[in-house]
Amino acid sequence: MYELRYFDNAATTVMSESSLRTYQEVASAYIGNPSALHQKGLEAKAYLQQNRARVASLLQIGEGQLIFTSGATEANAIVLESLIWRQQKGHVILSAIEHPSVSEFARLLKHLGWSVSFLNAPGGFIRCEDLQKALTKQTRLVSLMLVNNVVGSIQDIRSLVRTVREFEKQAGGRHIHFHTDATQALGKIRFSLSELGVDSAAFSAHKFHGPRGVGMLYNANPALENLSRAGDQEGGLRGGTENLAGIAAMTTALEEAYASLDRNLGQVGEINAYLRERLGSFTILSPSQSCSPYILNLSVKPLPSEVFTRMLYDRGFCVSSGSACSNNAKQKGEGVLTAMHYHSELAKSSLRLSFSNDTTLSDAEALADAIISLYQEHA
Ligand code: PMP
Repeated sequence: MYELRYFDNAATTVMSESSLRTYQEVASAYIGNPSALHQKGLEAKAYLQQNRARVASLLQIGEGQLIFTSGATEANAIVLESLIWRQQKGHVILSAIEHPSVSEFARLLKHLGWSVSFLNAPGGFIRCEDLQKALTKQTRLVSLMLVNNVVGSIQDIRSLVRTVREFEKQAGGRHIHFHTDATQALGKIRFSLSELGVDSAAFSAHKFHGPRGVGMLYNANPALENLSRAGDQEGGLRGGTENLAGIAAMTTALEEAYASLDRNLGQVGEINAYLRERLGSFTILSPSQSCSPYILNLSVKPLPSEVFTRMLYDRGFCVSSGSACSNNAKQKGEGVLTAMHYHSELAKSSLRLSFSNDTTLSDAEALADAIISLYQEHA
């Protein structure tokens, strides 16, 4: 038996001990529903708001701009579904490298009579000139991710937002909602929501050692409406009883991630640089500049990703082929890589290695040895 070594942190991370402890403590200490008017409800409500204030202060946003959700999928959905309320159908711009929780809305929106443009991202990057060409007077929403989950490329969201704002001025001033899926960025790389200038952003706790099934939406657009207000929690943008223990555990994980962000970046950066060097004979699909060090994607051409992933697992390594979500829906990760203009032969053989502050250099050495020896044996 091999010791298990985990290199799939972009799919999910292990909950930190303190996040897990917070979860257990809060789940047993706060028994009331935050909407209830008795003392236990009021205590839960006050604690919920205290968590909101702590997270809002880390993100440097207003407390009213923070909506707790069940994850990034739901946060993305709240924004995209809001379009369904519009009286007139319009136009939406997405990138062709979005996570399925964004890109799959294209089907629904087209079905409802909207038009959707997809922007390619050559080498991993969405270009301002392509966005500029795609904008029309009918464009109502632009959704472009901050860090790509397949290769780690960091988009220049600030310039992309500026392109939209300049277009708005020329086109008569109608506001276009700019959403970013920042799931792979939060707690890992530094960014400022106000500097990016986005109207909304989606986040997920389980990517930064918090629990699965909890996330957040940042929303600065007062006109955003949910498909259903349901029970009116979270300012009417996300109905349903709040997952207080999960939210508190996320707050703990986020505070920890922020406190050690630079140290973690340094450690993960070293591991990434080591693997880039050791695996330098393979084609590296992650860009060398403007890329999150937490993700390294490479091609083991001509061996198929699924086969290589399984062989690595047999040696005790968890890695992902393309992206975890694409493992269920065939070809999606490949679609993202071809939208980055990588040849389909490279895309079919892509391996995604993803790291966390738990990853050690000796794990990375063992992984590099295994990749090199498996490749020599089978290619
Ligand atoms: N967006 C991106 C970029 C992601 O990587 C993920 C997680 N795979 C999601 C959205 C979905 O997040 P969640 O699991 O919280 O719904």
